[in-house]
Amino acid sequence: MIENFWRDEHTKAGYDYLYTPHIAKLDVWRRSGHTEYYDAMFPPLELEGLEFELKPMNCPFHIMVYNSRQHSYRDLPLRYAELGTVYRYERSGVLHGLLRVRGFTQDDAHIFCRGDQLEDEIIGVVRLACRLFTAFGFEDYDIYLSTRPERYVGSLEDWNKAEAALEEALKAAGLPYRVDVGEGVFYGPKIDIKVKDVLKRAWQCTTVQLDFTLSERFDLKYIGEDGKEHRPFMIHRALLGSLERFFGLLIEQFNGNFPLWLAPVQVEVIPIAERHHEYALKLDALLKDNKIRSHVDLRREKINYKIREAEHQKVPLLLVVGDKEVAANFASLRIHGQGDKGRVDVAEFLAKVKQLNDNKSLTVNF
Ligand SMILES: [Zn+2]
Repeated sequence: MIENFWRDEHTKAGYDYLYTPHIAKLDVWRRSGHTEYYDAMFPPLELEGLEFELKPMNCPFHIMVYNSRQHSYRDLPLRYAELGTVYRYERSGVLHGLLRVRGFTQDDAHIFCRGDQLEDEIIGVVRLACRLFTAFGFEDYDIYLSTRPERYVGSLEDWNKAEAALEEALKAAGLPYRVDVGEGVFYGPKIDIKVKDVLKRAWQCTTVQLDFTLSERFDLKYIGEDGKEHRPFMIHRALLGSLERFFGLLIEQFNGNFPLWLAPVQVEVIPIAERHHEYALKLDALLKDNKIRSHVDLRREKINYKIREAEHQKVPLLLVVGDKEVAANFASLRIHGQGDKGRVDVAEFLAKVKQLNDNKSLTVNF
């Protein structure tokens, strides 16, 4: 669900999708500067006399796709997105559940644009991030501008220009921000968005990095209106960050009580006796047909036990079916945390769940 929603929002925002390899020759990572400036690389693999490296980032692949053909100024901006799994060698002592792992999936994208498009693109990315967070129920976040670190590539002048461009975009969008001195990445400054969970703990999710170094190193070009070659700007951005970590944050945020549209099982169908199994299975199939994630509990357990268990699993909606329900094409509805809601017509129930799903509703009212 998280991925589907992410994809829909990115399609609306004009992104194309890529799937790129998990390893590349070590030369690629030398050219990008990763071998020299990036500490979390796994040791290289030797295959048939050549050295390969697991990708710690997706950037060089997106760059190669960009470089696979010539671009004119009219083609830009190009926005390449990928749910890209990357590998980072974290010391065993710092690994921590879903939050810090050695392989994770970034909701990554790279935007290649002209200088005159830079501000709008940065604003677009920050606004898209805020839209996603709102849908997941996060209202509170802080924006940081992270500036040049001690180890960096590129000239001081380029760094100053890039920092100014990010700052201009934040000001133009009217977004309040703080400056995090020295926290940029080696190839450019960045905007970070830290989301606050229900307990007001801040989680680093979004990062928007402006890069003028990789376009230089990989010799990116486009043909300008003047017929001459120009360097595009490159923006690296991940909005939710690592999907694994973001999922950890969602569990904390909702305390496991996911809103309907995110719940792994949305509806639990519970037949009272064996003679109701056929109806329960039909109901389950109908729900699945309507893209509702349902599960039917056919165990020979007492009804109260089954209800208690589904409540314990925090399934948002429970449909109990017995003789009366089968006869009338109805089901008895229980809403997690709200209790018994009485009988509902199956068709009306379907329409309502669909509506709650479509609206990404954070609460359930029938
Ligand atoms: Zn990147």
